[in-house]
Amino acid sequence: MSIAGKVFVFVGPPGSGKGSVSSLCIKNLGWVQLSTGNLCRKHIAKQTETGKEIDFAIKSGKLVSDSLITNMVLDWFQKDFKDNHTVILDGYPRTIMQAQAFAELFEKRLFKSDLQIVRFVLSDEMIIARLSNRLVCENKDCQAVYSEKQGTDLAPKDIMKCDSCDGRIGRRPDDDMQAVAERLKVYHRHEQDLLDFYHKAGQIVHNVFVEKPLKEVFEDFKALVGLE
Ligand code: AMP
Repeated sequence: MSIAGKVFVFVGPPGSGKGSVSSLCIKNLGWVQLSTGNLCRKHIAKQTETGKEIDFAIKSGKLVSDSLITNMVLDWFQKDFKDNHTVILDGYPRTIMQAQAFAELFEKRLFKSDLQIVRFVLSDEMIIARLSNRLVCENKDCQAVYSEKQGTDLAPKDIMKCDSCDGRIGRRPDDDMQAVAERLKVYHRHEQDLLDFYHKAGQIVHNVFVEKPLKEVFEDFKALVGLE
């Protein structure tokens, strides 16, 4: 396994658009996405013992254990990653332990010049507003993200059906307000530790301000990371 392309780490609270920007990168730039949240939901759909453990954590807004997540990530790099891919880590690492595990695994190959950290910044009020409108494709091989707010970038053409795969669209169980409050608390608890970790490692953290339409966020993102 060797990593020739770049690695982008997306750090940001739930509902900040990490998945939506990832989708644009996949479509327009040919990048690939490793979303640990998507991998977790695939495990749940398979109804394995691991899936049940993950389901319990997700529904209560807590994090899945670092060891499970680290194994999932390793497995993904071994099975799904190809040389020269530029990869987005969406929602990983989420804790200091995950960041350390990732740094140890990949340090020699990509640290500093090949790794870019992008932090999505928005207010808690905006997050809550967005998550209360969020819809997702229930096909676990797709999981495209939509908004039920008509007239926005993310509104699906048909409110019942996914634009890309025709899968059924629904709400995520962990987007209920109690789980959202817990997820935000958990995010804020870990964010500063992660940022300190990257600062100490000499990594620049690019801030993208995302309280604007997705198209503009994507343009800002590209400019920030030197793509335009
Ligand atoms: P996401 O789709 O990124 O919002 O993640 C949904 C849920 O999956 C989170 O609230 C966690 O319960 C779990 N999860 C996803 N990624 C991680 C991670 N890196 N570490 C721990 N739990 C995670």
